[in-house]
Amino acid sequence: MVGYNKERGTYFCEICKLNYNTKELAEKCQAWCSTHDSCNLGIASMSVEAEESRKKQAK
Ligand SMILES: [Zn+2]
Repeated sequence: MVGYNKERGTYFCEICKLNYNTKELAEKCQAWCSTHDSCNLGIASMSVEAEESRKKQAK
């Protein structure tokens, strides 16, 4: 099961703690993280944290 952050309204992978806007993405991340030792960049790039860092870089 993925986690749900009530304050932010996001779902998160309980292994790498990245937040996602949809439960599906968090589940994909967690499925990957539970079978691999590293994050899948394709999935991680869709995380809330990645979106936020892209916004910061755009400034
Ligand atoms: Zn993960």
